[in-house]
Amino acid sequence: MTIEPKDYRVGAGRAVRLKKWPTLGKPFYRGEKQYRDILARQQSQLDKLQKLLYADRRHALLLIMQGMDAAGKDSAIGHIFASVNPEGCEVFSFGPPSAEELRHDFLWRAVCRLPERGRIGIFNRSYYEEVLVVRVHPQVLAAENLPHVPKHGATLWKERFRSITELESHLCRNGTVVVKIFLHLSYEEQRKRFLARIDEADKNWKFSLADIQERQFWKHYMDAYAACLAATSSHAAPWYIVPADDKKNAHLIISEILMARLKKLDMAYPKPGPTRHEELIQIREELGE
Ligand code: AMP
Ligand code: MG
Repeated sequence: MTIEPKDYRVGAGRAVRLKKWPTLGKPFYRGEKQYRDILARQQSQLDKLQKLLYADRRHALLLIMQGMDAAGKDSAIGHIFASVNPEGCEVFSFGPPSAEELRHDFLWRAVCRLPERGRIGIFNRSYYEEVLVVRVHPQVLAAENLPHVPKHGATLWKERFRSITELESHLCRNGTVVVKIFLHLSYEEQRKRFLARIDEADKNWKFSLADIQERQFWKHYMDAYAACLAATSSHAAPWYIVPADDKKNAHLIISEILMARLKKLDMAYPKPGPTRHEELIQIREELGE
């Protein structure tokens, strides 16, 4: 069974009704063994693509991971990038902004952490929180000291969507491939994963009362996500809605989406010129070969 990235892509300008997007899809593996085999193959392919990205030095890859608590963002990052050279890859997790970050515009802290050419940058949450958690909890916005807040609430989010899509188009024009993943988890599966975090001692640390409080805002979050995915899925930087109730399947799907995007880039290892060849022969002689 082949994984088709386009099956998960949100078309630019399309409305999004999350209820219509599955949280559980047909599995691309039969059993644990096959999952491990497929993932191992994908991991080594991704490692090769990253090496090429690094050698070519013209592009960067930015992977944005969004999803509700327990959607599996950390687990996906850990599994998909397990074989990639840590030197070629950086992960940043975005929590509530610090006092310094609040003194800047809402894109600043993420822009400071964008990947340089040749690198993969992974955002575990991102500036998208600024149209998600901030939209769900207006009091968070109050702390941002904005010079003007449009009277009509919707205008503010429209303006933020515009800032985001313009940033992403700019990045795309300048060589950064932006891949955005929404891990689409069901309300019921989140409940199960929260219970596991209570029942399994080594998962206890991951659980907080705040997580349970956020769960009460589920519907608000889904509305904010739907509006955001529809407004910010562009040709340059499309969103992919990945069913997240089966973590293993989600890992295989995301890996495939990433590789498909990387394979489309026109990348090559730098070719040594004729002088370089002579240089290498000379070095070999000096090494006593
Ligand atoms: P976690 O990913 O579980 O470590 O949680 C990070 C928390 O930081 C989540 O509850 C996010 O909603 C919150 N967060 C991330 N970015 C922002 C932001 N820009 N403003 C407010 N809260 C944020
Ligand atoms: Mg959390």
